[in-house]
Amino acid sequence: MMRRAATALLLLLLAACTSGDAVRSEPRRTSSAPTGPAPTTTTTALAKATTAACPVIPNRVAPDPARPKYTLRADVRPAEGTVDGQLRVIFTPDIDTDRLVFRLWPNGPRSAPAEAKLETGQVTIAGRPVTSDLDDPTTLVVRSDDGFRAGRAVDVSMSWRLHVPGAANDRISRNGDAMRLGSFFPILPWEPGVGWATDAPVGGFAEASTAPTADFDLTVVIPEGFSVLASGTPDPVRPGHFTASAMRDVAMSVGRFDTVSAVAMAPQAVQVTVGLHRGTVDSGGTSPYLDRVVASLEDFGRRFGAYPWPTFTFAITPELGGGIEYPGHVMQGPNTLGVTSHEVGHQWFYGLVGNDQGRDPWLDEGLASWAEARFENRLERFKARDIPPLAKNKVGEPMTFWADKRQNYSDGVYVQGAQALAALGEPDLVDCALRVFVAVNAHRIARQSDLVAAAAAVFPNAAATLTAYGVKP
Ligand SMILES: [Zn+2]
Repeated sequence: MMRRAATALLLLLLAACTSGDAVRSEPRRTSSAPTGPAPTTTTTALAKATTAACPVIPNRVAPDPARPKYTLRADVRPAEGTVDGQLRVIFTPDIDTDRLVFRLWPNGPRSAPAEAKLETGQVTIAGRPVTSDLDDPTTLVVRSDDGFRAGRAVDVSMSWRLHVPGAANDRISRNGDAMRLGSFFPILPWEPGVGWATDAPVGGFAEASTAPTADFDLTVVIPEGFSVLASGTPDPVRPGHFTASAMRDVAMSVGRFDTVSAVAMAPQAVQVTVGLHRGTVDSGGTSPYLDRVVASLEDFGRRFGAYPWPTFTFAITPELGGGIEYPGHVMQGPNTLGVTSHEVGHQWFYGLVGNDQGRDPWLDEGLASWAEARFENRLERFKARDIPPLAKNKVGEPMTFWADKRQNYSDGVYVQGAQALAALGEPDLVDCALRVFVAVNAHRIARQSDLVAAAAAVFPNAAATLTAYGVKP
């Protein structure tokens, strides 16, 4: 029985990792921007617990009012495998910088071999053409002799074209009439208080953005007979128009979807839509996914604090071996019901509380695994799993560490992440610590020290407990 349980857990983890979760971009920390201190928050004001108990949860911090404002248009042509786009973003850096950077993730080493390609047209600032260069295929840079000043808004525009040639077990894919469009447009990799996140991606690991919370006005044009499931709130009057407030990225799935909908109370009403692309064979159909999404949204809303947006969409499209999370939108492959709650957990850990995808992978994968373990009642199985020696007590390592240890990544980060949290103490109190973490770090790019501080507000020995697992405080 034990062996069967362990095998089932491993299969589940591998399924969760096959597509997007285990595939990550490299850490990127270099910046020519002045490296100021990380933004100070009320984290430092959190009192350390003297006995393990759930404190009064601080009010959730509001998103930065000076966050980037994107206007994005995407003309999706499934038959041709192209998306023609326009992008305008009003960006206000919070520290001085000598350049603007856009990441073009479809050109990275995971998507490019499938012949995905993101091309950009003339870049303009306030309507004036400016020179831009590709530092590498994923990094478009606009330099300025005058620099870009803290607190001064920059109005940048460009056209772009995405080529989506064929099926890939990833976030950029076209399979018949179904298209997955994740990390599909030029995005600003700005970490407030730090600067540009520009390190190169590494082959095999996926291209997901470290990006600040932003607002999006998204217009999607699709051919007759197609539908789109996207991040953001659909406009009741203009089909294909979505608005997303305080999201760090947007994504969508385009296809011919049969959909089911429900309202989750998480704890405010969340309109949930689950779509199955016609012809995709899933043994249970849409209803079990809808039930799982609604139940996990409501459960996590209680455990970790309110789901932050009014909508959530979920698309099942062909030939995806697990799930890929974006704020307000999750992509999964057929017969992947078991990873649903993990992907929903990412709405809190990655979506609401961001993290550097290269530097601190456990901050979203370990915490989403904790959420999954709590919802699915899998915590004892996670705790019982042996961590391989190469990964043991290395939970806090960056993606560069895992790059040549892919076979240890899910045990080292996902399972060991949940084990590190479990070691803090009573699971209900760990949920409380994560509720503190979410409240204090909402809409930010959190660091491992932020998690340690939140845990220390609940558990007196949190720092010692977590550092023993390799957490970097
Ligand atoms: Zn994950």
